[in-house]
Amino acid sequence: MANKLKVGILGATGMVGQNYLRLLEDHPWFDVTYVSASERSAKKAYEEAVAGRWHYATPIPMAIRNIVVEDASDIEKAKGKVDFVFSAMDLPMKEDTKSLEMAYAKAGIPVVSNSSANRWTDDVPMLIPEINHKHTDIIPIQKKSRGFSKGFVAVKPNCSLQSYLTPLFALEQAGYRIERVILTTMQAVSGAGYPGVPSLDMIDNLVPYIGGEEEKTEQEPHKILGRIEGSRIVNDESMRISATCTRVPVVDGHTASINVKFAERKPARDEIIKIWRAFRSFPQENKLPSAPSQPIIYLEEDNRPQPRKDRDAGKGMAVSVGRLREDSVFDYKFVALSHNTVRGAAGGGILNAELLRVKGFLG
Ligand code: NAP
Repeated sequence: MANKLKVGILGATGMVGQNYLRLLEDHPWFDVTYVSASERSAKKAYEEAVAGRWHYATPIPMAIRNIVVEDASDIEKAKGKVDFVFSAMDLPMKEDTKSLEMAYAKAGIPVVSNSSANRWTDDVPMLIPEINHKHTDIIPIQKKSRGFSKGFVAVKPNCSLQSYLTPLFALEQAGYRIERVILTTMQAVSGAGYPGVPSLDMIDNLVPYIGGEEEKTEQEPHKILGRIEGSRIVNDESMRISATCTRVPVVDGHTASINVKFAERKPARDEIIKIWRAFRSFPQENKLPSAPSQPIIYLEEDNRPQPRKDRDAGKGMAVSVGRLREDSVFDYKFVALSHNTVRGAAGGGILNAELLRVKGFLG
């Protein structure tokens, strides 16, 4: 890539926005040139806007410290300064996030979003590049039907899916259709943002409920596995999913315990592991900078994967899987783990932007 693209972060002061800045510091294709947040942070130097709430162990990137934070609702300010934006905004009303992202697209600025606001917009692709990179084909349709010149919106799914959906997709792609899945997530506290769940609810405890999470975990895979028909993405609901989502006292790394029933024939255990280890897709074939060289890592040890030991696999972008064994009710069960604030948030957004760039949608 000869020229780096100029990138803005909407919601740059929040937990996900900060992680974008951290992960993009030396990115070979993208340069952060613009940051925005709510009017509370606007007009302040970035360093001042996040004083006392920079969440990461590494310091604020030097190039960002003195950039003045703009008001994200003032789209005119971003015009001409960016080639596209990452959206990590969390407005009080989801509908407002949805329409603000669309307004950026209408103003000619592509939006690669982390928010759930546009995930169920029919003509917006919800991307996991290893699975549904072809859903970018909806973008010209979205632009045409909405009268957008250069802009569009593309989103990433909820962080709870990242651990289990790629391993299941790899098996389906190898010809083993999956009929039913029952899973329980054990999700890290960072997934709730900052300050998140009160410490007195979390220490010495587990919370067996995360508002809205089970619906997202069960339904978003249907769109990701779906197909483009006319001007919309139509769900594939052939894989029935039942999820229980829990919050556990882990800082980073969402783990899931998964039980799987195949539709027709079921593979042997060795074959499943072989399929996972051999799985590669568009991001690996096209050497996208943030793509893990091995997207699914199978661990043989009985006590893995574990969040502390395995969440950083593939720089936080790979899924670690283990404990594959026969199930006495379904066919198999296994445990999977993914880094929720890297692959499940900013890192996943950056991989989406890399996908969109090599496909010619950005810049
Ligand atoms: P957060 O820490 O609360 O940050 C929210 C950001 O939105 C801040 O930059 C905030 O700016 C900005 N904001 C708030 N109200 C605004 C307004 N009216 N106009 C413009 N900007 C406004 O939230 P987060 O955890 O980073 O999450 C951000 C988004 O990513 C959410 O949609 C969330 O659901 C999604 N997400 C989060 C995770 C995760 O692991 N945390 C994972 C996947 C997706 P101020 O600082 O000025 O208030």
